[in-house]
Amino acid sequence: VSIGEFDLIARWFTRPVRRAALGVGDDCALLAPAPGMRLAVSTDMLVEGRHFVSTVSPQRLGHKALAVNLSDLAACGAKPLAFTLALALPRVDEDFVAGFAAGLFALADEHSIELVGGDTTAGPLNICITVFGEVPPGQALLRSGARVDDELWVSGTLGDARLALEVLRGHVALDGAAFERVRRAMEVPQPRVALGLALRGLATSAIDLSDGLVGDLGHILERSGVGARVELDCLPRSAVLAAQAPELQRECVLAGGDDYELLFSAPASLHAAVLQAARGAGVVVACVGHISTGSGLQVLGADGRAVDLAAHRAFDHFRA
Ligand code: ADP
Ligand code: MG
Repeated sequence: VSIGEFDLIARWFTRPVRRAALGVGDDCALLAPAPGMRLAVSTDMLVEGRHFVSTVSPQRLGHKALAVNLSDLAACGAKPLAFTLALALPRVDEDFVAGFAAGLFALADEHSIELVGGDTTAGPLNICITVFGEVPPGQALLRSGARVDDELWVSGTLGDARLALEVLRGHVALDGAAFERVRRAMEVPQPRVALGLALRGLATSAIDLSDGLVGDLGHILERSGVGARVELDCLPRSAVLAAQAPELQRECVLAGGDDYELLFSAPASLHAAVLQAARGAGVVVACVGHISTGSGLQVLGADGRAVDLAAHRAFDHFRA
């Protein structure tokens, strides 16, 4: 006979908690944020066929489900505390659940956070995680604080996850080693939590790049009431992506999605401090442009001419 709902929770998703006041097993979990802190909360859902392919390894799926949520805390400069997991499974495949839990808890342990509750149901494979973090009052990084003449920065490299997707779609061919590298970017993104914390008091605005730079930077510009200029050639990309055709590179870095890098603005006077903060967080950052007056984004190519952005729209689940 197959294993039941409560056995499943007990076997794979219940571990003793130390930081939380109460974990899995009661009607609510109880968290213990430090006195006076703001609680930062974010939810992200992963749906099979939409956000991941059925062939992804369960470990990597467990990692990514939590990583995309931690990325939102990172973008706010919040320190992760705990998370809940709502899981719909078509059936209990023990290898799948064990692998998923292993990938999930490996990343949770890396960030010293605990799974404190959730919900488990039968249904089409669907993973919804809510993360809780803490940030001192007034120190959260928001989308609304960018100011004219601030520099714009990006962490890591952009576009590899999109390149991997293009390979899976059969639009691009890569050799095995190159594909494995970009596939890692797609399936095992590294949330920039340490960078987010290091940018408190330096960045004037921040967002994590989940839907592509053009769309996500657009959110900062709209919320901040400013415009921006970005140099296409300054957008950091991996050696694998840099070896692709220019049009493909452009689409991947401008509209790729699934990068989970941080995009942030900071006063030019803090340029050296930003570099030092990033070094301390163990992350490479690149200055890619600046905030300007007016509204909207201008991306300049190597020839100094503006790139047509109509071709590089952000991903939108409800738009073709
Ligand atoms: P209730 O019916 O009161 O909402 P449930 O029976 O759904 O509680 O869940 C029992 C306990 O197991 C609760 O503490 C809940 O938070 C926890 N839980 C359920 N599913 C998960 C999961 N996937 N991961 C972690 N905890 C879970
Ligand atoms: Mg329930």
